[in-house]
Amino acid sequence: MIVMKVGGTSVEDAGAIERAAAIVKSRLPQKPVVVVSAMARVTDQLLVMARAAGAGDRDTALQLSRALRERHYNTAGELLGTGLFTQFHGELEGDFDALDELLRGIAAVGELTPRTSDHVGAYGELLSSKIISAAFSARGIDSTLVDSRECIITDSTHTRATPLFEESNERLSSTLRPLLQSGRVPVMGGFIGSTLAGVTTTIGRGGSDFSAAIVGAGLGAERIEIWTDVDGMMTTDPNLCPDAKRIKVISFDEAAELAYFGAKVLHPATVLPAVQKNIPVYILNSRDASCEGTRISARAPHCRNIFKAIAAKKRITIIDVAAPRMLLAHGFLKAIFDAFDRHRVPVDVVSTSEVSVSLTVDSNESIPALAADLAKLADVKYEGRKAIVCLVGENLREKPGVAARVFSELSDVKIRMISQGASAINLTFVVEEDAVPDIIRRLHAAFFSEVDSEIFA
Ligand code: ADP
Ligand code: ASP
Ligand code: MG
Repeated sequence: MIVMKVGGTSVEDAGAIERAAAIVKSRLPQKPVVVVSAMARVTDQLLVMARAAGAGDRDTALQLSRALRERHYNTAGELLGTGLFTQFHGELEGDFDALDELLRGIAAVGELTPRTSDHVGAYGELLSSKIISAAFSARGIDSTLVDSRECIITDSTHTRATPLFEESNERLSSTLRPLLQSGRVPVMGGFIGSTLAGVTTTIGRGGSDFSAAIVGAGLGAERIEIWTDVDGMMTTDPNLCPDAKRIKVISFDEAAELAYFGAKVLHPATVLPAVQKNIPVYILNSRDASCEGTRISARAPHCRNIFKAIAAKKRITIIDVAAPRMLLAHGFLKAIFDAFDRHRVPVDVVSTSEVSVSLTVDSNESIPALAADLAKLADVKYEGRKAIVCLVGENLREKPGVAARVFSELSDVKIRMISQGASAINLTFVVEEDAVPDIIRRLHAAFFSEVDSEIFA
């Protein structure tokens, strides 16, 4: 069996779902399990309405929900035709009525907890999987809608829950295997799961890729296909740099670094369950199924270019912590990292000197409280609107003089932090957010104007 994950833009409207159905049909002999995202932008919109309700603005929340209802009804209507849609309409109506009820409840209380936020956020995938499964059936695919909350079991860290693999694997096996054996095509929503007690959770933004990997690893899939809106993993974000080239094959390690540092095309956690089971992952274009895409493999073949790709991650805050009184004292870093741990703020890049340390974190609302906590230990400053730029490639392990080449290309750019060596395959630095498009284009021109045709297309 294989897992096919179809992303938000690849199910954004009736036309896109139609294309997805044709792709799934072409793979029926390989016994696909289909994992779908919410229709494009729906998760964002759900979270906006949840926050509006949490702030007591019931009318805005319900108005946004009405627009979402209309979009889903229209898409389902177009896909199913009047006859089938009339039968199906009641089901969607029930979901939207329940969503509105939930929003009214949140607005009445005037508080949005992570747990209720997950309840609202999960609607995107619950609705898309229902519509897509119905649309597949109408096109002659023997599809069965599977509620992911019955198979993907997680802890209760709402909004970024961690899967409980043993429990999930058992449930995935007992639910999906009989369906596959009887020739059915299971269709399930990505991104969502539930706790052992049955409370709805979500596994982090962009998490449908991760769901696909959990399903693939759980069932021992032959391969996992991530269907998206670009030709594959590219040498940089094609939206920033139109002459980005497709990477034909990339190693798991390289893909993981790129995903982590901003190549949104793949969720960072995706690769891990697949790596552990040596399951190949492909990134493919739902708008052009004939394109070969990118294969992510355990080991990368030799490549003549130094780098495989350049990624950038925006909305970064730098936190500078300086403690002159800690000179020669031990325990300084531990005390600092303990504070990050208490506030559950993950750190990306770190650079240290004897009595000061700079760290980067994704900009978020916990930073002021964290900074106040750190201020008990040391002098603290933080500054947002930064970005991490990351160049990745296995060749970085051996080639001398690479950093010199990179920074001489950027001799006029203010670099705030630099890190190389931690993973041996990436060179990472931090700059002002506004400078990113120009930096990416310059580095791309410097390192990818000529490419190894075995690796890039
Ligand atoms: P999906 O909805 O299918 O999950 P995403 O929007 O999450 O799609 O990811 C696809 C997007 O990732 C592309 O449209 C592209 O703009 C962006 N992207 C960023 N870096 C890269 C890269 N190196 N290669 C390909 N796409 C990239
Ligand atoms: N719909 C979710 C999100 O937008 C998950 C995903 O699409 O991967 O974050
Ligand atoms: Mg995505």
